[in-house]
Amino acid sequence: MRRTIVAANWKMNGSVDLVRDLVGGVNSGLATLENAVEVVIIPPALFFRDVQARVEIDRIALGVQNVSQWQAGAYTGELSARMVRDLGGAYVLVGHSERRQLFGEDDSVVAAKLAQVLASGLTAILCVGETLAEREAGAAQQVVSAQIRTALAAVQGDSWNQIVIAYEPVWAIGTGKTATADDAQAMHQMMRGLLAELDAPAEQISLLYGGSVKPDNAAALFAQPDIDGGLIGGASLVAEDFVSICQSA
Ligand code: PEP
Repeated sequence: MRRTIVAANWKMNGSVDLVRDLVGGVNSGLATLENAVEVVIIPPALFFRDVQARVEIDRIALGVQNVSQWQAGAYTGELSARMVRDLGGAYVLVGHSERRQLFGEDDSVVAAKLAQVLASGLTAILCVGETLAEREAGAAQQVVSAQIRTALAAVQGDSWNQIVIAYEPVWAIGTGKTATADDAQAMHQMMRGLLAELDAPAEQISLLYGGSVKPDNAAALFAQPDIDGGLIGGASLVAEDFVSICQSA
């Protein structure tokens, strides 16, 4: 059975005070949660330890937003996948569109980072998605499929268990615009078919949707047969909203 996952990408937001309040709110909100959702908190790496010390709920795992494409060495400012593993992290975002667009991460960098994550025994949340221009040109599925093929070209065997994919249309991230449940489902169905073509255990791989998921649209998205949860940006910074999204999963 594939897992239902709701992951919180805090991006470059937060403070020591926010960590205390937000994790406190999430702890109390999730204490009585009755579904089986796995929750992942992905704070800025500087707050990783603080979040870890405050989390009180077993179903919450931790992740980071980025790691280096190199294993170790003279790469000032970088953080390695091994360090994340060492600290008890479980997930790493790879290929988020903000990394691709603002930090020039192309498909080969994404693939190299993914390889580091897998080699360290962590789970990669591979983010893929088309821009508005690509969608309007009718190329959305082609773009997403190419991103998946390149990033996952070297994955084989048991490593597929360490892969989660988040479909995040770039035009929906932080904009308040969400893909319709039908459009998101169509993309997820295509992705699952592609995974089968790549000889992956497609039915076992969790496929998340991300892009302006809020308490009022989460349930419709998560009800789709190929949507196994969400990657949540803005709404994950408000404990009540994030907990409500987790309840919808
Ligand atoms: C994200 O950053 O991955 C994201 C989906 O952001 P938002 O929910 O704010 O659109």
